[in-house]
Amino acid sequence: MTVIKHFVDGKPFEGSSKRTSDIFNPATGEKVNKVNLASKADIDFAVGKAKKAFTEWSNKPAVTRARVLFKFKELIEKNSDEITKLIVSEHGKVYEDAKGSLTRGLEVVEFACGIPHLLKGEFTENVGTNIDSWSVRQSLGVCAGITPFNFPAMVPMWMFPIAIACGNTFVLKPSEKDPSCSIKLAQLFKEAGLPDGVFNVVNGDKESVDALLTNKDVAAISFVGSTPIAKYIYENAAKNEKRVQALGGAKNHCVIMPDCDLDQAVNGLMGAAYGSAGERCMAQSVAVAVGNIGDKLVTELSKKVESLKVGPGSDKTSEMGPLITKQHLEKVKSYVDLGIQEGAKLLVDGRSIKLQGFENGFYIGGCLFDNVKPNMRIYKEEIFGPVLSVVRVKDFDSAVNLVNEHEFGNGTSIYTRDGDVGRTYANKIKVGMVGINIPIPVPMAFHSFGGWKRSLFGDQHMHGMEGVRFYTKLKTITSRWPSGLATNPEFVMPTMN
Ligand code: NAD
Repeated sequence: MTVIKHFVDGKPFEGSSKRTSDIFNPATGEKVNKVNLASKADIDFAVGKAKKAFTEWSNKPAVTRARVLFKFKELIEKNSDEITKLIVSEHGKVYEDAKGSLTRGLEVVEFACGIPHLLKGEFTENVGTNIDSWSVRQSLGVCAGITPFNFPAMVPMWMFPIAIACGNTFVLKPSEKDPSCSIKLAQLFKEAGLPDGVFNVVNGDKESVDALLTNKDVAAISFVGSTPIAKYIYENAAKNEKRVQALGGAKNHCVIMPDCDLDQAVNGLMGAAYGSAGERCMAQSVAVAVGNIGDKLVTELSKKVESLKVGPGSDKTSEMGPLITKQHLEKVKSYVDLGIQEGAKLLVDGRSIKLQGFENGFYIGGCLFDNVKPNMRIYKEEIFGPVLSVVRVKDFDSAVNLVNEHEFGNGTSIYTRDGDVGRTYANKIKVGMVGINIPIPVPMAFHSFGGWKRSLFGDQHMHGMEGVRFYTKLKTITSRWPSGLATNPEFVMPTMN
């Protein structure tokens, strides 16, 4: 059994803590590795190395930094099979899905390769007589990222490529459940020519997160994970005077209008609800059936959910892999029990699935509930598993009210053939990412990712221009040439003339 170390200052780092956490292969339930959990001293050491590397890295021309990113992109492509297999073995999702998530991360690296253009400032000649003014965006210093288990490559890649392209140095604390991808990415970035100390990975749990939150040399924190922890990160990072963006949990609604192309909607929902076993912050976990579409929708969905092919992620015929841990499996099953107690109608029950040869894997089959009501906990809370709830409403306005009243506002979709309805939905809905006849509206790298309400604490979304703004601060310079024109001191607010 390997003990996974940290990666600090360009090399593996064991750290001083003797604490470790187990890593499982969710497909078999076997304990496969251990990971070192960093102490406060280990975190402070990593931040110290990142701080030391900052001066030189931030002074490099943006075009020089971009060249390292270009090389990094090539190395990720070259190693994509290995990275994908790491995702499959530690997270459990199926190979093609894991590969797709790596591609979405790679696209952020491609976006970051354009950093010389993205950092071009603004200039105004003659804002006053002989006075020019310009604005630049400068790097912050050491930035930290804390990431969840469900996208071990993509979510870290929403953060560090842009932060580093902007001239910052970075300390990443990935999920302790699937840390190997981050270590691999750090090795590849070094191979691409990144100077030591610019990108560091420390593994850990609450102790290391708290050490990042209190370290005075950490300028900014990006977090992605569950809402209670996101709120904790937001409050504590702000209290310690850090810039912070903290993305939280979700309960995403897919509104099915009676006029929609039902086949398209059902296929979209199947992928969005059951892909990655529902362990996606953009998973559609609520189908809102509008008007008389409900009966047809649940009939079509039931057939497909019953025939979902569940199996290990390494089997290319599997459509849905296992959940991340045994504890998470128990939690998801307990939500299904709860739904029955609350009076929802369980149409498809995946709780007792058993796979030959994989009896100890953390599997649950797809579950489908009908007649879910807004006061039920299975509707209100994030389950983060392959459980789809159908809520029936009488009309479009009721659907909009339902979605807008939910505490989360990450993503949502609507299926309709009516352009007016689609456009009104996009306009009225209080959700950060909206799809019209698109099941999982994850924005491309050059747009930005983020939810509303209790799905995001902070102001800036991830990647795209929001990412560049988050990882830089604005400076505006006003200068007068030629010099020597001043006459007497002026004590009034300067106005340009
Ligand atoms: P989590 O909140 O348990 O963990 C996220 C990170 O926080 C991990 O690195 C973990 O080590 C750390 N952490 C856990 N408990 C902590 C504590 N008490 N104090 C400080 N740090 C702590 O989330 P998870 O289970 O790894 O991931 C699933 C969650 O992430 C879901 O709620 C999902 O919706 C959310 N998520 C959101 C987005 C988004 O973009 N909004 C994207 C992916 C996942």
